[in-house]
Amino acid sequence: MSSILPELRATIRNHTHADEAVVVEQLLHECSLDNKQREAIRTHAIEFVDRCRAKSHKAGTLDAFLQEFGLSNNEGIALMCLAESLLRVPDKDTADRLIAEKILSGDWASHKGQSKSRFVNASVWGLMLTGRVVTLDDDFQVDTASWMKRLVSSLGEPVVRKAVLQAMRIMGGQYVLGRTIEEAIQKGTAQNHSDARFSFDMLGEGARTDADARRYFEAYADAISSIVATGKRASVSDANGISIKLSALHPRYEFRQKQRVMTELLPRVKALALMAKSGGIGFSIDAEECDRLDLSLDIFAALARDEELSNWNGLGFVLQAYQKRATHVARWLIALAAETGRRLMVRLVKGAYWDVEIKHAQEQGMTDYPVFTRKCHSDVSYQVCAQILLGAQREIFPQFATHNAHSVALIRELTQGGKEYEFQRLHGMGHLLYDEVVKENPNAAVRVYAPVGKHKALLPYLVRRLLENGANSSFVNRFLDAQVSPAQLLRDPMDETRSHAVAPHSGIHLPRATYPKAAHPWANAWGIDLADPLEVAPLLEAVMAQGDNQHKAEPIVGGERMPGLSQLLHSPARNATAVGEVVVASEEAIERALARGALAQPAWDRIGAHHRAACLERVADLMEAQCHSLIGLIVAEAGRTIDDALSEVREAIDFCRYYAQQARAHFCAPQSLPGPTGEVNELSLQGRGVFLCISPRSEERRVGKEWRSRWAPYH
Ligand code: FAD
Repeated sequence: MSSILPELRATIRNHTHADEAVVVEQLLHECSLDNKQREAIRTHAIEFVDRCRAKSHKAGTLDAFLQEFGLSNNEGIALMCLAESLLRVPDKDTADRLIAEKILSGDWASHKGQSKSRFVNASVWGLMLTGRVVTLDDDFQVDTASWMKRLVSSLGEPVVRKAVLQAMRIMGGQYVLGRTIEEAIQKGTAQNHSDARFSFDMLGEGARTDADARRYFEAYADAISSIVATGKRASVSDANGISIKLSALHPRYEFRQKQRVMTELLPRVKALALMAKSGGIGFSIDAEECDRLDLSLDIFAALARDEELSNWNGLGFVLQAYQKRATHVARWLIALAAETGRRLMVRLVKGAYWDVEIKHAQEQGMTDYPVFTRKCHSDVSYQVCAQILLGAQREIFPQFATHNAHSVALIRELTQGGKEYEFQRLHGMGHLLYDEVVKENPNAAVRVYAPVGKHKALLPYLVRRLLENGANSSFVNRFLDAQVSPAQLLRDPMDETRSHAVAPHSGIHLPRATYPKAAHPWANAWGIDLADPLEVAPLLEAVMAQGDNQHKAEPIVGGERMPGLSQLLHSPARNATAVGEVVVASEEAIERALARGALAQPAWDRIGAHHRAACLERVADLMEAQCHSLIGLIVAEAGRTIDDALSEVREAIDFCRYYAQQARAHFCAPQSLPGPTGEVNELSLQGRGVFLCISPRSEERRVGKEWRSRWAPYH
């Protein structure tokens, strides 16, 4: 029987940057819940919220912190920036300067004493620089900024630095179950009932060097040994498990390094998976950024097919519902389980990198986003993915990871009549909600995802949690906020989606239209997703083809080729490979070019800013159309990486459009704008430079200008 996996992989790839409205329409179509069920889910969720609010005094200190410091105020943002940046600052002086800048931007005082939680106040005081209660001066209320300035200058930045780090440590204690796996296991057992399930996460991700990766490998291996030593449970789904991040196990875990990843990273993951298998525990691969997905599917498929890992149901994948291709990945996982004759664990999450994904797609000028732009779309996707996973009980053990009461109520509704599954929550979060779940159904299985590690390794995780939880769209952000009624908080995702006519978020423009607010908007340079095999294949073809071309760069003045000294040019990456020939302009050629330029200048000046702007835009369009060959040329000539070459071309395109926009904004009266008639009629790749042949029509004069790597646009 032929496999359906390749076809499903192709569908996944085709949906990476799919049209959001089309995908969401399809999701609405697939959703099996009727109106009555949806109303029941909402009512159930409202009950959960009411019950949790009634005992909100028991909320964890972290929940209290988030209520006090969201990211919607200066202090929250300053705190995040500071904490995140501090770890990356190598020297104390710079750290102090950073603190001086950030801390003065916050109005810390307005938070003092507002929260009943001692933790919040402790962190406020921590941020108040000394770690002890500070008696406020009277003028604090009047002029906080100067007051802070005086305080910082009297205490000194080193004290501030210590205090901030201390505050971060307090906060870190909320999220991390233990500094070592032994401490975490011991604390986890003491803090929870005896049959509580854990998935331990050894903090650390994004290895930068092989030494980092080896260190993380050892930490995972030690952790697996320690978890196994705590004793076997009846089944792998009851047992404690481990969650790993592939980015921790290899410094080049990226699509461009696929071969290395498959030969170097895969054996490391397999070695850990074998340990987990022999210990009878679960082994989950956390989901990271979208551009890792394709590669992670290859690794996961290789593990699932591996004979040595057969007869074990502990292999786990994390599925992010906010990705437009999520439902297709769910189907691929089911098919993989069926074809390899095993049951897979699948943790369904919404996804923790939303801000990063949006920013990345905009920076890279992608055709569209890989994630949804409306929260309710991710919720609908979560709903459909849950349905798909629960419909394949033989192949999948679903694990629903969420802190959202509506998502919990959804799963309760979908599992009516008995299904095998578990809920998952993060250590330090969601316990109010899950206490209610367990109270309602004592058999409900809830696994705690428990980060383990030292303070320094916590921050990427911490910042992700706080960013996510501080967002207004996030459930936990308003969960305990008495100002928001449960009915407001818990809208049915399908109704909400339809209320926006299934359209993407109107405030989040497509990546190419990132600059819509300017009076004269310009298009973000078109990019190539270097982690998308479908986009990379034609690019590689063009780059390889450039290797066969022999380029010739020579001075052309007034359309006439000028003689000069000729030199062979070699690739700096491969010295033996000649990439072409360059003819150096003679003095006479330069004199002639200058003279012709001077002659053409008055007409060029008279022609006006709009025409010159249109020329620049035409150049940008031509470069965009020939982006692949330009990249190939830069790679061949300058020995650059494809990433760098792509950035270089995109930068040039952006410059052209930006300066065209500036010319229009500053030099053109709006009513006198003629249509966009660029007069650049040729963009030819001639060896070392790109020649723009610009013909001011009135003069029919040909002005050649060489555009080199760092081309400075001109008005
Ligand atoms: P909700 O408030 O219902 O959802 C918030 C989420 O909605 C955001 O995180 C984002 O995904 C999405 N969202 C927010 N705004 C928008 C928008 N404008 N458009 C589209 N979508 C939007 N995440 C990972 O990426 N990888 C993991 O391996 C992982 N493991 C986890 C393990 C556990 C046990 C838990 C509880 C979470 C894990 N997460 C992981 C985090 C998870 O993806 C969510 O970020 C987090 O749980 C919040 O989702 P929620 O359902 O609890 O809350």
